[in-house]
Order: sequence, then C-alpha cells, then structure tokens
Amino acid sequence: MKALVFVDQGKVEVREIPQPYCGLGEALIRVEACGICGSEIESVQVLSKRRKPPLILGHEFSGVIEYINDKTDRLSVGERVIVNSVIPCGKCNPCLRGQPNLCKNRQVFGMNRPGALAHFVNSPLYVIYPVPESLDFVTASLTEPLSVGIHLLNLIPDYENPTVAVIGAGTIGLLLFQAARTLLNAKVLVADLADIRLKEAEKLGADVTSNPLKENFEAVCMEFSGADGVDICIDAVGTSLTRNQSIKVLRPGGSAGWLGLQENSVTLDSYPIILPERKIFGSYGAEKEDFLKSIDLLSSGKVKGGDWVEVFPIEESAEAFKKMMKGEGNFIKAVITPGKGEG
Ligand SMILES: [Zn+2]
Ligand SMILES: [Zn+2]
Repeated sequence: MKALVFVDQGKVEVREIPQPYCGLGEALIRVEACGICGSEIESVQVLSKRRKPPLILGHEFSGVIEYINDKTDRLSVGERVIVNSVIPCGKCNPCLRGQPNLCKNRQVFGMNRPGALAHFVNSPLYVIYPVPESLDFVTASLTEPLSVGIHLLNLIPDYENPTVAVIGAGTIGLLLFQAARTLLNAKVLVADLADIRLKEAEKLGADVTSNPLKENFEAVCMEFSGADGVDICIDAVGTSLTRNQSIKVLRPGGSAGWLGLQENSVTLDSYPIILPERKIFGSYGAEKEDFLKSIDLLSSGKVKGGDWVEVFPIEESAEAFKKMMKGEGNFIKAVITPGKGEG
C-alpha cells in the first residue's frame, strides 16, 4: 500500500510499504479520507519531539472496516467509521477518573503508532465509531478536529448566550466557532491574520470577523461584547501573543480556553487574571461523547465543511503537505483520499 511518511526534518514522501498487521481486538480500516493536521506540519518543520521519523502521519480519518480480529456486535465489516485519534489505556489514573483523553499511556495515530495517511490503518475497536450513510467521507474526516473543539466547549463554565471570540480561523477555529453558535447559542467573533480565512468564517456564519493586523483587536472585542469584554475567548493558535490577547479581551469573570500548541513557553502578567477573576483553562483531545456530538453536528449540517477543504489523492499527498508547510494554495484544510481509484 501507499503511505505518506515523515522521513526527516522538513521532508515527507509517499512510500510503498506493507499493509499493517491487524492485532487481536483491532480492526483493519480502509482509509477513505484523512486530513493533514497543523500539528503534523509543525512537527515535520521543526522536528518536534512529539513525532519521530520515520513515521506514517495522519490522525483525522474516516474509512470502511475491512477486517475485524475479534468478536463484536458493535461494529461490522463494511461499516463506515471514524476513529478517535487518542487511544487510552483504560488503566491509569486519568482513565479511571473518566478522562481517557488525558491518559498517561495514550497512543496517538501518526505519533506513537502508524497514522492513517495510507491505504490502510489498524485500530483498536473501542475507539472506532460508526458514521451515518448521509455523511460523506471527507466531511466525516472533520469529526476529529471538530470533536476537539466540542471538548473545549464542554469545559467552559456556564454563561448564558455568551459572546465568544475565537483566535485563529484554521480548521479547528472554523469548526469550533460553528459548534459554539449551535451548542452555546453564542454570538461569535473570529480573528485571523489572513483575510482569506476570515472570508470562510463569514460564509460559515461568524457574526463578526477581525484581522488584528488591520485593526485594534481589543477594541473590536470590547465593541463586539457590547460591554466590558467577551465572556469567552478561545485561543486556537497558541503563541505567547495570542494567549495574552485571549486574557485581555475578557470581561471580568470571563474565561479563556487554550488549545493551540504553537509555542510552549508563555510570559503573562498575573494581575489581569487575578484582579478581574478571569479563568484560564487548557483543553486536549476529545472523549467519546464529544465524538458522538461531532458526528451529529456534521451529519445534521449544523457544522459545515466547505470549499476551504481541498481534496488530494494519496499520490499527491506529499505535494499537498509541502504546500501547507510553505503556506501556499488557496485552501485551509488538505484532506487526502487514499480510497479513490483503489475500489
Ligand atoms: Zn490534529
Ligand atoms: Zn490510561
């Protein structure tokens, strides 16, 4: 089979490799669509410790069950499915506390085990979920990034009809803000440095968009809130700058949710957090309920993909990856469709 392999810093290539072995308790999945994630671009560019080459990338995928190596009533061969990217051990403290996404021994596709940017991938049965016929494979591959956004929304304290600012209109930002509108009944402002992304946000129903290169982002947020700051700000970028911004634009008692991972270190003033009793929380991965909600929102059309998602065959996946590394191309999300032409 063909697979997109991370071979060295800044280097990915399509390679011919053997089909994966399907262990006991696992299914072999024929991959129909797999998104390229920003975190993978980042890993390849900077040779991050999170992903070590040689490695098959890909953790946002949908496909069809080809073979099951176990007895199960829940799944069947030929079924259309998506898979949680994080595989918990079920035994550690976070797992026993009901936080499998924070598992200490977690495995992630395309990180600690082979990813799904390939014709086939093997997966434990317990992280596989069926998707309805009505959901096409490319849209279904957005389930993972959307569920990561839904997980964050579920961690937010209760605010009634909140004003929400989302920093970063990449895949997660675009999916998350739509989910915030429908799940929290939120009014949403989306910020990004690229106007092309803001146009997509507008098309998808953002109430207000803002380019901080062109206007004072804090002032825009104040005006948008109609008061003294937004209830919630979500940082889907993850730099020292965006994390600081996410606090400054909050009203007293507001909450900042962080899921962007671009930089680790951050320098913060503490008084703007302590004195106005603002909250900051982190969010990572997603749980089963987040995935089920994500499938529901995508199949009901309450959250949409669109022409910001560009599809490439596996043969062109290395080119698509390189385009994303260079910031070229008029797409925000590249989804690889290994199933096409292979039957
Ligand atoms: Zn991802
Ligand atoms: Zn665990």
